[in-house]
Amino acid sequence: MTKVDSKKPLVVVMKGDTPQECLINGLDKLGGISKFIKKDDVVFLKTTLRLPFGFPNNSNIDLVDKIILECKKAEVKKIFIGAYSSLDFSTKSIDLILGLSSYFENKGVEFVNLDERYELVSNDIKIDENEYSNEKIKDLRNQIPELILNVDKIILINQINIHPLFMCDLSLLNLYSILPPKFQKINYTHNFKEIVQNNQYIKDLVLKIIDLYSIVKPTLVINDIFYALEKAGPFIYKDSKLKKNNILIVGNDALATDIITLKSLGFDIEKNPLILECKKQAVNPNNFDDIKCYGEDLDELDLNLIPCYSNLDQIRAQNITIHSGEYCSGCYHKAYELLNFIKTLLPKDLKYLKECSLLIGLNPPEPMNKKNILLFGECAKIATQNYDFHKVSKIKGFRKKKEIQVQNKAIFKIDGCPPSLKDSFCKIYDYFGKKNLPELNLIYKLLDSLDISKYNK
Ligand code: SF4
Repeated sequence: MTKVDSKKPLVVVMKGDTPQECLINGLDKLGGISKFIKKDDVVFLKTTLRLPFGFPNNSNIDLVDKIILECKKAEVKKIFIGAYSSLDFSTKSIDLILGLSSYFENKGVEFVNLDERYELVSNDIKIDENEYSNEKIKDLRNQIPELILNVDKIILINQINIHPLFMCDLSLLNLYSILPPKFQKINYTHNFKEIVQNNQYIKDLVLKIIDLYSIVKPTLVINDIFYALEKAGPFIYKDSKLKKNNILIVGNDALATDIITLKSLGFDIEKNPLILECKKQAVNPNNFDDIKCYGEDLDELDLNLIPCYSNLDQIRAQNITIHSGEYCSGCYHKAYELLNFIKTLLPKDLKYLKECSLLIGLNPPEPMNKKNILLFGECAKIATQNYDFHKVSKIKGFRKKKEIQVQNKAIFKIDGCPPSLKDSFCKIYDYFGKKNLPELNLIYKLLDSLDISKYNK
């Protein structure tokens, strides 16, 4: 065991044949699990829980098992495990598919259905008024499930894949998802032009992530890049490519672990919006030299994960043409996910769809084809109000034929700034109809059968 005694944040970049081996050797270099977890601690294991299928969508279960064993060795009092899932899936529905509750129950660990926990405790949260002078932070603190705030230690087991806004899934992003999904969302109702010009969405998102980090600090952070998706992510998309790196990054500080992770993967930390804002706000560690890094030599790693497409036009989906004006990171992020999901999950539906033009942002170019025009987000809706495609010609009269202009009905609008993925799929489904979207229809039926209220009945 390496004796490590430092005031600086500690991070280990550990190479090995399995993620478990990397974890054990990494912990050893950090002084062992007892440096982080004490006897009788109540521990919350925060995992990545994205979709109920596919690898590496969620945290590696072998790694989770290993960390549970380590916690038990440290004689903890209780272990909770949980996460809010992505894309409006309820934790319960993922649990139903994967059988997480019973799996972890057999290991003496409680899988927490955070959706229910939040409803139970949210009305009864008491705050120490002296502790939070800042109203914004106080509000944010109120949105975190009480169970997470009350545990002694949080261990973050974060699956890294490529990410459209932050280069890759950072542990700070993972931590942000201890907020219920409704509080994670950022939406605007006016001043759309200013939002685009200031790229306000990502700025506000970054500030909220950092505010949350000022309230909750994990004791131990595991950034799992042993396997990671490159080219497209963070979900398993058609364009994603699985890369085996044989590396695990373990640290006692989330920001330091993220900085080392970005460096290991060949990203420029000076261009990462989250790291830049942390630096601006003097969140420690404020620079790379303030981190004590052990294990592999970063300069020799040469992992260089291929990033996501930074431009929506690069995502080619059959029968969908992108007409993009000036858009902000909000619409970029949501349209990126929508297009990748359509391409990945609905390849047959795409063949049935007649040509469709997706207009996004301020002043998008007008499509030649006036059929199936999708206005994505408030900017596209407002900016195209006077476009010609709103009117189409129609021949009227039986003997004396006359051409008249009528309202074009082949337009569908997806509201929101930015629109949600769920709304986008609902609008597409309503517009094209279930006969033209057999795959989406199947997904809907599956989700419907997992509806929690029906399940409970
Ligand atoms: S509608 Fe989209 S592009 Fe416009 S401000 Fe909102 S998120 Fe940004």
